[in-house]
Amino acid sequence: MYKVKAYSAASATSQFASDTIPRRETTEHDVQIEILFCGICHSDLHTVRDEWSSIMPTTYPCIPGHEIVGRVTKVGGEVTQFKTGDLVGVGCMVDSDHICPTCQDHQEQFCHNGTFTYNSPDKHGTAPVTYGGYSESIVVDERFVLSVPGNLNLAGVAPLLCAGITTYSPIRRWGDIKGKKVGIVGLGGLGHMGVKFAKAFGAHVVVFTTSPGKKEDALRLGAHEVIISTNGDEMKKHVGTFNFILDTIAADHDINAYINMLGRDGNITLVGAPETPLQVSAFALLFGRKSLSGSLIGGIAETQEMLDFCGQHNIISDVEIIPIQQLNEAYERLIKSDVKYRFSIDMASLKGE
Ligand code: NAP
Ligand code: ZN
Repeated sequence: MYKVKAYSAASATSQFASDTIPRRETTEHDVQIEILFCGICHSDLHTVRDEWSSIMPTTYPCIPGHEIVGRVTKVGGEVTQFKTGDLVGVGCMVDSDHICPTCQDHQEQFCHNGTFTYNSPDKHGTAPVTYGGYSESIVVDERFVLSVPGNLNLAGVAPLLCAGITTYSPIRRWGDIKGKKVGIVGLGGLGHMGVKFAKAFGAHVVVFTTSPGKKEDALRLGAHEVIISTNGDEMKKHVGTFNFILDTIAADHDINAYINMLGRDGNITLVGAPETPLQVSAFALLFGRKSLSGSLIGGIAETQEMLDFCGQHNIISDVEIIPIQQLNEAYERLIKSDVKYRFSIDMASLKGE
């Protein structure tokens, strides 16, 4: 075991503070990674504040961070895919059982014996739960380490490991969206990646936002149209016209307003995970045979596919780079939907602590 610097929260109401945490020694199948950048996902905030207590209660201290890019500093004797010096990424998962039908189907994110990057029981016993990427380094089984394309800006790559795959996967799963009318609801970390992918796959992209100040950015990011969702007249014009909608909203909202935007056989997929249940009108779904789905990140193979796609198409997240000392302010801004469009923590800032 060795110790690394990190930022942790001691309770649901605590501010982040400087800390040291244990990491395991590199086993035969492990890759040790020096973390260079880590994105701040809204899931980090939900977890730190124990907003998902009924589904996944938080164990403290909590060290979030599942949008990790870094450089390999050591590999175990059996590691075949990585070597010291490689640029790599780690997303929301660090282990699964590899034998269940779900893992066999490359959908490790649904494995019942899976381990999330933070706040999951630590199978190695290094700590009560796994600790995430708001830290200097991490040790991960090579099967959960991704290769990062060398041509992309690393601060902007980090958010691809969660916000990227979480929007890429449902868009790909929906099918060929070329020429289809696709809505992205909420222009935050996930939403702005959804816009980029939907545009890259040839859709007519429409952003729904509550923030009029984001309209120009939405167009710059690739949207063809922007609807201010609080404006009833603007909303009315688009009722019944969408093929597919991706809902990324992090808080309670009226989902029926978006179901009503779908045309016949249209689908709305939820990736946002508000802490309270949404009220769904049966009638909104019945008329038009519409469907409502959910989606959770993506498997490891699909995550690598997404990263390779981003490398080929020069896609990264739009980030505000911050030193880790600004973590508490960043969280306050995230709650206010005031980030363009993902915070990426420069881990070099941790060295001076
Ligand atoms: P984010 O950066 O905070 O973006 C969420 C956006 O939703 C905001 O920028 C805002 O966009 C909109 N919004 C926020 N509050 C709203 C409200 N009360 N009513 C209407 N719109 C509101 O968050 P994120 O990191 O993209 O994450 C979004 C959600 O996805 C979170 O719940 C997160 O936990 C979840 N998530 C799920 C997965 C998965 O695998 N399914 C993975 C990662 C994250 P506008 O300003 O444009 O309105
Ligand atoms: Zn996330």
